[in-house]
Amino acid sequence: MKETSILHIGFDDTDSRKGMCTTFLAFKIVDYLKKERVKFLDYPYLIRFNPNVPWKTRGNGAVALKIETKKPQQIKKNIVKYIKKYSAIKDGANPGLVFYEQRDIPENFSKFGKTALYRLVSRNEAKKFVQANRLETYHLGNGQGLIGAIGAIGYKFRDHTFELISYRDKANLRKKRNILKDSVEKMQQLTFPNTFNSFDESKNRILIAPHGPDPVFFGVRGEDPDNVIKGAALVKSKEKFSGYMIFRSNQGTSDHLQNELDMDDLKPFSSGYVVGEVTEKPHTILGGHVFFSISKNGIEVKCAVYKPTKLTTVAARLIEGDLVKIGGGIRKSSKKHDRVLNVEFLEVLELKKQSIMRNPLCMKCRKRMKSKGKNQGFQCSKCGNSNFAKVEKEIPRQIQKQFYLPTTSAHRHLTRPLQRIGKFNSKIEFNNSKKWFSKKN
Ligand SMILES: [Zn+2]
Repeated sequence: MKETSILHIGFDDTDSRKGMCTTFLAFKIVDYLKKERVKFLDYPYLIRFNPNVPWKTRGNGAVALKIETKKPQQIKKNIVKYIKKYSAIKDGANPGLVFYEQRDIPENFSKFGKTALYRLVSRNEAKKFVQANRLETYHLGNGQGLIGAIGAIGYKFRDHTFELISYRDKANLRKKRNILKDSVEKMQQLTFPNTFNSFDESKNRILIAPHGPDPVFFGVRGEDPDNVIKGAALVKSKEKFSGYMIFRSNQGTSDHLQNELDMDDLKPFSSGYVVGEVTEKPHTILGGHVFFSISKNGIEVKCAVYKPTKLTTVAARLIEGDLVKIGGGIRKSSKKHDRVLNVEFLEVLELKKQSIMRNPLCMKCRKRMKSKGKNQGFQCSKCGNSNFAKVEKEIPRQIQKQFYLPTTSAHRHLTRPLQRIGKFNSKIEFNNSKKWFSKKN
């Protein structure tokens, strides 16, 4: 009997804005691996990394697979062929592929992946990691994809979700996706809260399908494999998809915002949160975006809330002295603008009392007194009663001590939707008998 080995496979950055997709390549590779009769040890991973890096394609998503096989060399060789064939290199993809042939993944892999969630990891750091851990890698272009490939293999889930992604027939690729809106709305109602972000009620818009030329037909996100299968079966369309695959994912976990940003060193393109006091009253600029500043330990950072998030009304109601927790990403400063924290969530922790000073009321006439001149007190114009001091009147705040999130259509892949707040899925066991992969023909 030939011995079997455990093989971890990670890849990233194979897609481009023009039409390929890393998850579709994963679908192709899994299809091939099924033909090779390998044993799958887990669902494919779909891992989203720091969404605030400048060169992400659509979602900065990487894929990892874990299999058991008797012929690892042949498998590796063929996967390299798939990467070569299906990567959109001409359109600017920089694919990276990593193989790790060991049962267990060392701790430093997950550390690497965690770092790639929060900040910009350089290609040089990835190169060093590859050398130090003697990884077998393959890359095209500048090898940017190696970062996600390593990070995906070793990703340690704090919480996780699933996504069923279905793919189109080649013949339909240029055609408009014809999905019945009502069926998606109904699916969301029927499967809530076990699926998420399928339909934006406020905009009457479906969120499960991309608009570009890529092979993804639609994706249903949810809490477990059963529910994403159930959800996908409820989506109605005249177009028949060519197959689907279920991914284990960090989508909907807000894992990228668990990191407390270092105010002394707010690195461009880093993600995380800051707890600070509002030091500059919000102001709205042309276009409807709202800016304000918060400060922590005497260091100030400007925060930006963009109109499409629909958080601008809330943000505009903040006042100096409010204590807030802001999650988001640091936008690099340029000649045109300062360094800015782009807001992905806003939590009001303390509200400052807001009041105005008013002239005193005449208790007899129930009329507001008039000023007699600077520092001379106030007098009732009807009865002549006088009083010296102004009175303070509290104005009710029109904002609550609570957590505020952008509207669903402005969510990133990683954004934890409201319905998932406080919800953590401990690792759901891999069940190979479940229909996690399906392909016609
Ligand atoms: Zn009076």
